[in-house]
Amino acid sequence: MNGHDSELMESVLISSGFQRVDSEAAANIVILNTCSVREQAEHKAIGRLQQLARRKALEKNFYLGVSGCMAQNLGLELFRRVPALDFAIAPGSIYAIGEVLKRLEHGEKQIFLANGDIETFAEDDTNFCRRKITRVSAFVTIANGCNMNCAYCIVPKTRGRETCRPINNIMHEVQFLVANGVKEIILGGQIVNFYGIRKIPFENGKSPFVQLLEKIHTIDGLERIRFLSPHPSGFRDDLIRSYSDLPKLCPHVHFPIQSGSDRILRAMRRSYTRRMALEILGNLRRSIPAMAISTDLIVGFPGEMEEDFHQTEQLFNEIDFDMAFIFKYSPRAGTSAAAMGNQIPKIISEERNQILLKRLAVTSLRRNQLFLNSHQSVLVEASSAKDPRILWGYTPHHKKVFFPAPEKMIGKIVDVKITRITTCALTGTLASE
Ligand code: SAH
Ligand code: SF4
Repeated sequence: MNGHDSELMESVLISSGFQRVDSEAAANIVILNTCSVREQAEHKAIGRLQQLARRKALEKNFYLGVSGCMAQNLGLELFRRVPALDFAIAPGSIYAIGEVLKRLEHGEKQIFLANGDIETFAEDDTNFCRRKITRVSAFVTIANGCNMNCAYCIVPKTRGRETCRPINNIMHEVQFLVANGVKEIILGGQIVNFYGIRKIPFENGKSPFVQLLEKIHTIDGLERIRFLSPHPSGFRDDLIRSYSDLPKLCPHVHFPIQSGSDRILRAMRRSYTRRMALEILGNLRRSIPAMAISTDLIVGFPGEMEEDFHQTEQLFNEIDFDMAFIFKYSPRAGTSAAAMGNQIPKIISEERNQILLKRLAVTSLRRNQLFLNSHQSVLVEASSAKDPRILWGYTPHHKKVFFPAPEKMIGKIVDVKITRITTCALTGTLASE
């Protein structure tokens, strides 16, 4: 989502007359787009800002800004910690970046825009028309913010209450992207499968999100649909059925389970149990047998005892995840978990992290093995940084594939025979054009 927000700001700036340069040293405006989910990310960003601030003293025409979650989370405090900072813009107000720079040119100082200071999804939304298309796969924001209250998470504070983009605006953007060569769309938001849940009525038992998927599916020229991030509780039967009903919907699900222990899930305020999650995953794999499944997990949440971690380990063994993002719990000021007793020592979180990472190396290799010697359709994204004769792209199961082929294949969907696998990628040869 942050990557996409950066792209959006870049497009807005280019259409306001600014130019992109190739190196930070050549830039006279530097904006750090930041994440606040873990403390480490904020520390790093502040360190970088303080380093960049030194340029302010030396260069008259140098502007320094912060966008994203840290701007909302730390607010005016940021200007105290980095006095040379020119502006800070929260995630909901990034469309105003062009105007902020104009205000700076007119001599205003230390401009701060919080969430809600501008309308995030305006009805007459045409910002996407200014969007620079750089890839065959494009992220499309359908919602911003989050109404959940997971005990560890700072996102509701930094991105605010959920706002949904009207279906028509999303459709227009996807049509625009496809008309300009995009073949894959990734629908994005904090909890995409709760899209429009209290605003748009269900139709024939289908949730607003499934209705959106069906509408997007009708767009000619669009080949693949993905979405990120869903919430486990939002995988009802209508969504599971979509995987068989909608051929463009890719057979890969990101299922952020967070823990395998019911006691911890309850303390985290996740609205499902281990049994409910396993049942959904079973249904998904029954509906599409080779369904690839990735997850997010937190180890070392306050009060996570050996027995709780053991439950997570067991679940990890049972599911055979294709990929997992394993996070060591990071206390975030203002969240309820940060005030809980029984904080887990870092050394234990690290140990648990290593155990799961080792396990992941085994399961992802085993999952990748399923594709050895098979033919896969690969949406070719680019040539490899190391060797321009090698191209890479993704299979529908979201497996990254490297294969030798001429550059003219970039942007196409090609048939690749898989000849070698590792834990994180597949290698193959071109079978046809
Ligand atoms: N909306 C998504 C996740 C957004 S944050 C969802 O509900 O799944 C991305 C991931 O960061 C989360 O899934 C969680 O695993 C991790 N995360 C969030 N807060 C964290 C914290 N305080 N410490 C460690 N990991 C955290
Ligand atoms: Fe954070 Fe996701 Fe929970 Fe929202 S649903 S509070 S974004 S973890």
